[in-house]
Amino acid sequence: MAQYHIWTVGCQMNKADSDRLGSALEDLGYEFTNDAEQADMVILNSCVVRQGAEDKVAARLNSLQGWKRNNPNNTLTLMGCMVGPKTDELEKQFAHVDFFLRPQEFMPLVEFASERQGVPCSTDLDLLPPTQPQVSAYVPVIHGCDDFCTYCIVPYRRGRERSRSIQDLVRESEMLSRRGVKEITLLGQIVDRYGHDLEEDTDLADLLNAINSVENIHRVRFLTSHPRDMSQRIIDAVAHLEKACEWINLPFQSGDNAILNAMRRPYRIEDYLSLVERIRDAIPDVALSTDVIVGFCGETEEQFENTIAVLEKIRFDTVFVAAYSTRTGTIADRKFQDDIPVKEKLRRKKIIEELQERIATEKNAPLLGERVEILVEKKQKEKWMGRTRTNKLVFFDDSRDWTGKLVEVDVTHTGPWSLQGNLPDTTSISDTIDGIIEYSHFKDDTHQSKNEIPLKTIT
Ligand code: SAM
Ligand code: SF4
Repeated sequence: MAQYHIWTVGCQMNKADSDRLGSALEDLGYEFTNDAEQADMVILNSCVVRQGAEDKVAARLNSLQGWKRNNPNNTLTLMGCMVGPKTDELEKQFAHVDFFLRPQEFMPLVEFASERQGVPCSTDLDLLPPTQPQVSAYVPVIHGCDDFCTYCIVPYRRGRERSRSIQDLVRESEMLSRRGVKEITLLGQIVDRYGHDLEEDTDLADLLNAINSVENIHRVRFLTSHPRDMSQRIIDAVAHLEKACEWINLPFQSGDNAILNAMRRPYRIEDYLSLVERIRDAIPDVALSTDVIVGFCGETEEQFENTIAVLEKIRFDTVFVAAYSTRTGTIADRKFQDDIPVKEKLRRKKIIEELQERIATEKNAPLLGERVEILVEKKQKEKWMGRTRTNKLVFFDDSRDWTGKLVEVDVTHTGPWSLQGNLPDTTSISDTIDGIIEYSHFKDDTHQSKNEIPLKTIT
């Protein structure tokens, strides 16, 4: 049987693209292999958001030169954000690559594979969800990005914003549910702009409402949100829809207004702080995560400290911090000087990482001895791994198979990045109804009060 191997770096959108391409290849009779050396077809799905990611892809491509030389009939594809509108430079640098495909433009490879296999191919890859989906699946709902934050290469590589229709997305979610998926994460570079480009008057709140009705999907999340586009309707949807998880990823990038302006982020930090207040008022148990860039062009120590002040004030559950990496072709690369030395960028990054480790430790500590509900995803290093609705990782030991089950766990250890726990003595798989355990004590806790709210149709 013909075998394919896909290697993916970068964001969740890349992971979703790889799953979709894998699905198309499996439809044509290909089988996945974890070992690139054994594959007839190798695809590298690339990321160029930072130099580090690009270097990783280049190293991986170079490491496949011997494989291609020894098997000239095998196919090597570079896809994703490393591939821009012009490929001449890449073709020179990586002459052993057969296909260069821009993000989501996988049709040439699918057609080639179809011809090779002598099997007709599907033409609408959006309608090909992963063939081996896991408990939790990513569903891209809006492609591309129309913002041009000065540091960011994404809009140049992923093109203009295009939302998929609610009908398509519900259909895909139902298909995923039939294949055992229990949690869906709706994806977009700016997911809270979902729908603005569609003819019908629809937004992310409508989409959340529609997915909320899909049978056997227990949870729905979305990322990444933009502060400008986080409407009260979306906040209310998270507050009131039973399946919408209380977890919002809301990058602020910098705590300094002059830097935000230079980044072309269209809000002031005061606006961001009041948005967080509104979110916390509406969803008191919400967990917040954010993205921050340190060492952007001209960032002074004082401006960096403004970012620290915001982190200390808001106390996020998770922070993704990146050292600024200039990207050829972006506005910042053309207009500003990348003048903060690498050593200084890394110092600032480390300060934030240490600060966040302390904050996350403090925020998780009160969960010790608490009972938390998790959706179990898989076994990892001999332990079962699941997430709370607020996206906290929880591990527990048990010999039975809990994949895809919603269970409660008594927390016995808390750390900054994860929790450890035990199943209560009484827990048995037979307590579950399609994976949902019915606990009487739900009546007293916050989940019960939320579950009791009749599912509101958002108008
Ligand atoms: N659309 C999202 C937003 O508006 O925040 C984020 C998508 S972006 C691809 C993911 C993260 O990568 C950003 O939030 C930013 O922190 C980081 N990033 C993007 N370009 C970067 C650069 N040139 N250097 C360092 N980090 C960068
Ligand atoms: Fe990049 Fe800004 Fe678009 Fe996010 S909103 S993908 S950071 S350009």
